[in-house]
Amino acid sequence: MKKVVIIGSGPAGLTAAIYVARANLEPLVYEGEQPGGQLMITTDVENYPGFEKGVMGPQLMQTMRQQAERFGAEMRQENVLEVDFSGRPFKLKATNSAEEAEAVIVASGASARLLGLEAEKKLMGYGVSACATCDGAFFRDRKVLIVGGGDSAMEEAIFLTKFASQVTIVHRRDQLRASKFMQNRIFKNPKIDVLWDSVIVDIKDPEKKKVEAAVIKNVKTEEVGDVPCDGIFMAIGHDPNTKIFKGRLEMDTKGYLVTQNGTHTSVEGVFAAGDVQDHVYRQAITAAGSGCMAAIDAERWLEAQEG
Ligand code: NAP
Repeated sequence: MKKVVIIGSGPAGLTAAIYVARANLEPLVYEGEQPGGQLMITTDVENYPGFEKGVMGPQLMQTMRQQAERFGAEMRQENVLEVDFSGRPFKLKATNSAEEAEAVIVASGASARLLGLEAEKKLMGYGVSACATCDGAFFRDRKVLIVGGGDSAMEEAIFLTKFASQVTIVHRRDQLRASKFMQNRIFKNPKIDVLWDSVIVDIKDPEKKKVEAAVIKNVKTEEVGDVPCDGIFMAIGHDPNTKIFKGRLEMDTKGYLVTQNGTHTSVEGVFAAGDVQDHVYRQAITAAGSGCMAAIDAERWLEAQEG
């Protein structure tokens, strides 16, 4: 039986692993089949303290992983498929293994949201993407759209200008949600323009297995028309990865885990950290901070059980 099992390997999971390992509690980290979390699909991270000139997302995650391994954290590149928190020890079933644990730290993060269009599903990987940093380079000298008005959409729009000839932000309102700093950057960029009050209602052409145009509706005028383009990137936020915890841990209406008194979930001995329980801040540094808190909470809780 493991003392502490950590689910997730983003900044929250790996920071928890570093702290738990340094407390000699030999954590097992179920990293997921695509380890590293959302920073793996990010380029420059300029706001993570300690890196004066910024750091590449994947590099930051690799360093955190090595740091956790140095103190004895065990990494398993598997998805956790099922959990049983009804009694202790807790039981976890993953892709190729099963484990029992005295304490669990959930740091399973959040995933990119999609529009939910049939054509979007069919064209995913054929011109539709939720990751500009992964797929941007395929659109050299092409025209692309990016959907969303938050910081992610701005960041990805700027990144896409390295390749694309033109980047059009499609936003459903007449005001961006992004920070003023990011807004200024995009308004100054001659390759970026914005289609205001606009939503994508269809994408052409799934039959041809390529993106030729977005069918866009102006929500104020109700006008609908084609906007020719070669690629469409979604940057409309994220949903927490909490499917396996439904009915097992308390969640809010959006599916985020509810934590109290630090990182305690509704089940004693199960802790939650990072984006899976935070829809407000969602930064790498806040995720890392809450991973540290979860590790300390778990360590103290285990100590109290023994005492
Ligand atoms: P976000 O701030 O929640 O923005 C999501 C955007 O997508 C919003 O503009 C929203 O429109 C739009 N949207 C949502 N659902 C939609 C739908 N079904 N159809 C069309 N549009 C839809 O998400 P985010 O940009 O991913 O940012 C998440 C958090 O990370 C934020 O706190 C952000 O500040 C932070 N972040 C920071 C940085 C940085 O500091 N450099 C970079 C990236 C992200 P409405 O505005 O109308 O709601």
